[in-house]
Amino acid sequence: MKSYKKELWFDIKSRRAFINITKKVENCLKESGIKEGFLLCNAMHITASVFINDDEAGLHRDFESFLEKLAPEKPYSQYEHNGFEDNGDAHLKRTIMGREVVVAVTEGKLDFGPWEQIFYGEFDGNRKKRVLVKIIGE
Ligand code: ZN
Repeated sequence: MKSYKKELWFDIKSRRAFINITKKVENCLKESGIKEGFLLCNAMHITASVFINDDEAGLHRDFESFLEKLAPEKPYSQYEHNGFEDNGDAHLKRTIMGREVVVAVTEGKLDFGPWEQIFYGEFDGNRKKRVLVKIIGE
């Protein structure tokens, strides 16, 4: 069995963003040489997500307003977590959007359903963060 690991770094210059990382993840798969197996992709930070959905700008604005309704950024004082930080909302948003995705690898390709793309979700940006890609198989 082969095993491959890579970290992808992001430095998002805003508090929140959704970035399509599908091409970067596909490049990892190519580099690994693995044709059959599983690919795991997870955020290494507790205020960022990796998730799969449609690459459609309206939907991304819908995610933003949905998450702001559930866990509004402000007022910062509404969160008990915000004693020394102001990112209570970011932890909650990350939990809703998820930590990781697992994708089957079939014939050297990510075995997606229709319209599936992989996104990095940033909820407390303006600093460097990383995503882990781990692939096992043969
Ligand atoms: Zn925090």
